[in-house]
Amino acid sequence: MTIRDNQLLVGKFLSSLAAAILCISPLANAQTDAKDATGPTRHTVLITGANRGIGLELARQYAAAGWRVIGTARKPESAEELGATGAKVMQLDVTDQASVDRLVQDLANQPIDMLINNAGIQPLMWKLDEVDFDEFERALSVNAVGPVRVTRGLVPNLRSGKVRKVINITTNLSSIAENTEGGFYGYRESKAALNMFNKSLAVELGPDGFICIVLNPGWVRTDLGGPKAPLSVEESVSGMRRVIENLSPEDNGSFWTHDGKQMAW
Ligand code: NDP
Repeated sequence: MTIRDNQLLVGKFLSSLAAAILCISPLANAQTDAKDATGPTRHTVLITGANRGIGLELARQYAAAGWRVIGTARKPESAEELGATGAKVMQLDVTDQASVDRLVQDLANQPIDMLINNAGIQPLMWKLDEVDFDEFERALSVNAVGPVRVTRGLVPNLRSGKVRKVINITTNLSSIAENTEGGFYGYRESKAALNMFNKSLAVELGPDGFICIVLNPGWVRTDLGGPKAPLSVEESVSGMRRVIENLSPEDNGSFWTHDGKQMAW
């Protein structure tokens, strides 16, 4: 074989290789897309109130499962534990429209697959006489109005994501059907309003493939839940992740417990 023959052979080999790569690459893309659509890898979740408690554990577990996590904190400068999970830490006070607008602007054009409205407060007011109206209004602002502000701002990002789930963290205390003991003024009303928001959201966005649910984490040992709660954050969050993972379109608008049971409204 002459040098020229060798050059021709190498040329032929390179052009067949290029053709083979061209043929294979759409398949390779399809496989990557299929993997993205079915597995958690490279999906993005935004979790509010992620600097402590249930939100922090959600950030930990989703990051460990390979998700890209955006965790929000009112004071990002002191959210070291959240930063240590690998999450991107962003400032957000859900009661402050300017703070929500800043977050939305900073995330413009970035797809978000799932939003978890977790930030919440629990005023402790047992009797009507004990109701402090500032605290009552604060609970409505954080627990009910806050998720509406955040969700409205992020719907464009969620539309460009692949998963289209909105998870609103509620409580068993929001259930009117199960309220036999009364009390918890302000907390019960604010979370019942969150449940109703979820229902309207589900009706509005369901036709576009969204699944919006309210999810009760159970009674969990956090600053809010206190030391006597039976569940650890790890148990509650792994249960909630299982519920979220198994959701199907017919679950849109439903009310779940962390251990996979439907709750009465
Ligand atoms: P924690 O009190 O431990 O954490 C609450 C989180 O919400 C913190 O990150 C807090 O931030 C954040 N937050 C409070 N106000 C705002 C605000 N205005 N803007 C943004 N973030 C805010 O509570 P849990 O982790 O226990 O609760 C998480 C969710 O689970 C809540 O919605 C709660 O109602 C719900 N839940 C909890 C139960 C439990 O037993 N623990 C039971 C049922 C429901 P910061 O540190 O700045 O205050």
